[in-house]
Amino acid sequence: MSAEVLAQIAKEVAVCTKCELCKGRTKAVPGEGSANATVMFIGEAPGYHEDQQGRPFIGPSGQLLDRMFKALKMTRQDVYIGNVVKCRPPQNRDPKPEEIEACKPYLDRQIAAINPRVIVTLGRFSMARWWPGGRISQLHGQAKTEGGRIIMPMFHPAAALRDQERTYQMFREDAFTIPALIEKSEEIARTELWGFVPTEPEIIEPEKTIPVEKVKVTPAKAEKPVRVKAAAVAPPEIKVAEEMAEYQPTPVMEETAPVLAVTTEEVPEIVQVENKEENAVKAARPRKKKEDIKSIAEQLTMF
Ligand code: URA
Ligand code: SF4
Repeated sequence: MSAEVLAQIAKEVAVCTKCELCKGRTKAVPGEGSANATVMFIGEAPGYHEDQQGRPFIGPSGQLLDRMFKALKMTRQDVYIGNVVKCRPPQNRDPKPEEIEACKPYLDRQIAAINPRVIVTLGRFSMARWWPGGRISQLHGQAKTEGGRIIMPMFHPAAALRDQERTYQMFREDAFTIPALIEKSEEIARTELWGFVPTEPEIIEPEKTIPVEKVKVTPAKAEKPVRVKAAAVAPPEIKVAEEMAEYQPTPVMEETAPVLAVTTEEVPEIVQVENKEENAVKAARPRKKKEDIKSIAEQLTMF
C-alpha cells in the first residue's frame, strides 16, 4: 500500500511544476528507501549528483550517511531518505520559503505513507518544520516526540564535512543516539497499543548510548565491585573490549578514543560519563540486559 503511494508521489514529482526549481532540474529526486521504514531521514535539497541521477544523497554528503549507516548497522534499504524540496536549487543555493511550501505536500504525503517511528532531520531546513525559528547549534541531538513519533534534529552531513573538527564530532555523537531512539520509539508504540498517545511534545534524553571523548567509570559504592564493559574504538579499526573487568574500590577507567560506555549489570547510576567538551557530567542509567547491551556495543564503529 504505502509503496504504491510513494510510487505515485514519485510520478507526480517527476513532472511537477509547482515552483521555480522545476526549471533548473535535470531529474527530480523524490526520495528512496523502504515504504515501511522505521527511520526516515530528511535532508534539504538535491545537489549536483542527486540532480543527475534522481537519487537522494549520493554525493559526498551521501557517502558520509553511508558510513553512518554502516556504523549503526543499518542500510539504505531499511530506512527512507527524502528531502524538503525535490528539485535542485541553482548553484545549490538555499531553498526559498515559497519553494519549501510548494513542495511540502509531497513530504507530508511521504511521511503519512511511511509513518516512520523516528524522523531524523538533516540540516536547518528540515529541522524548521518541527522547530520553527530554532537554532540547530542548540537543538541538534535533542529528540522530541510528536504524535507518538520521535523527531531528532542533526546537522547536515555537508556541514559535518566542512567542519571536521567540531561539527563532525557532534554529527557522529548525535548519530550514535539513533539506536536508542529506535528502541524508545518501540516503547512508545507499545504504549500506544494501550491507548495512550502523548500529546505534549516531550524532550527525550537518550540515556543508553553516550559516545564521548573520554569516559570515567566510577562505582556508586566503593566496597561493591562493579562490572563494567566499555567498547572503545580507535580508527581505522574497531576495537571492542572483550573482557569484563572488576573495578574496586575506586576504579577509574579512561579511554581517550570516542567511547560508548555501558554497564553490564542493572545497577542504576553507576556510569558517570564525562564529556570534556561540554564540561558536563551525565549519568547513563543502565536498564538493559546483557544481550541488548552487547548489540548496542557492537553498533559502535567509527565513521
Ligand atoms: N544534500 C541534501 O540535503 N539532500 C540530498 O539529497 C543531497 C545533498
Ligand atoms: Fe515541484 Fe517540489 Fe520540484 Fe518545486 S521542488 S518543482 S514543488 S517537486
